Amino acid sequence: MFDVIIIGGSFAGLSAALQLARTRRPIAIIDAGSPRNRFASHAHSVLAQDGKPGGTILAEARAQLVAYPNVTQFAGTVRQAEPLPSGKIAFTITLDDGRVLQGRRLILATGVRDLLPELPGVAERWGQTVLHCPYCHGYEIGGGNIGVLGRLPASVHQASLIADWGDVTLFTAGMEPLDDDAMKLLARRKVKLEHVAVTAIEGAAPAIDGARLADGRLVPLRALFLAAPVQQASGLAMQLGCALEEGMMGPIVQVDAMKMTSVPGVHAAGDAARAMANITFAMADGVMAAVAAHHAMIAEEGQA
Ligand SMILES: Cc1cc2nc3c(=O)[nH]c(=O)nc-3n(C[C@H](O)[C@H](O)[C@H](O)COP(=O)(O)OP(=O)(O)OC[C@H]3O[C@@H](n4cnc5c(N)ncnc54)[C@H](O)[C@@H]3O)c2cc1C
Repeated sequence: MFDVIIIGGSFAGLSAALQLARTRRPIAIIDAGSPRNRFASHAHSVLAQDGKPGGTILAEARAQLVAYPNVTQFAGTVRQAEPLPSGKIAFTITLDDGRVLQGRRLILATGVRDLLPELPGVAERWGQTVLHCPYCHGYEIGGGNIGVLGRLPASVHQASLIADWGDVTLFTAGMEPLDDDAMKLLARRKVKLEHVAVTAIEGAAPAIDGARLADGRLVPLRALFLAAPVQQASGLAMQLGCALEEGMMGPIVQVDAMKMTSVPGVHAAGDAARAMANITFAMADGVMAAVAAHHAMIAEEGQA
């Protein structure tokens, strides 16, 4: 019986594991190895790690955890999680390969999946020149012509924000008609509007020459931003009965300030449980979930 089982071993999960490693309690962390930013060659905006490949940051974190004999790291995918039928809070989890673990607390750090539009040229450039977060990758574009593919009402906000990083054209064909407030904001931020539909992103990938329009024109671009709706990367939160709420881009696991879900004993951290996401937030959430799970176990032991 582990004290805490952490499912998902990326920025949120490893951060939770490090915090709990230092309690000397038995901890398990299981990771399927698909962090959300795996498409980007480098990670930015992470203090003291700026410009390092995301995979390198995670590999260093995993290596540092090896120093703690109370932490067991597993590679694999958890396919099932359910409460143990006992009086106390405890769970059993089953991996894809049939391995079964038991733990008193669960931390779900399973992340989300980005749902990209089926537009030729997008998927192969995702994380390189087709992007969603200007704070992560906007600086490296180095200014010039930047497109924003309008998909959601949030695309107006995104375009107005990205105007700090270059000369922005908002492609509106996928959007509801823009209201007066949106038009005023975009005009104030000098965002150009293009109403003809984009049919492809062209150039020698990952570079972009421009966005091809339905009328045949090519709008020259150095990068394209889009607002990608997300879905939970794992069904475990739903399987356990955790309440979800609508985040900015899709459903997220509902948590309180201690990263506690609606199911006793189950915490959630990182992108799976937050609307505004990045590596630093995910790491902070992991710390919070870990501390909360630890405190909860001590409280439970006091009642025994
Ligand atoms: C293209 C791109 C580039 C980005 N660049 C940056 C950047 O430069 N800087 C920045 O701050 N943020 C960046 N982000 C955001 C950043 O990637 C996320 O905020 C961060 O990865 C969230 O960490 P997480 O641990 O919550 O989830 P994730 O990193 O998505 O990790 C979740 C982990 O859980 C595992 N998992 C899922 N289900 C299971 C299961 N059932 N069993 C076992 N394991 C499971 C997955 O395989 C994965 O390893 C970027 C995002 C994208 C899409």
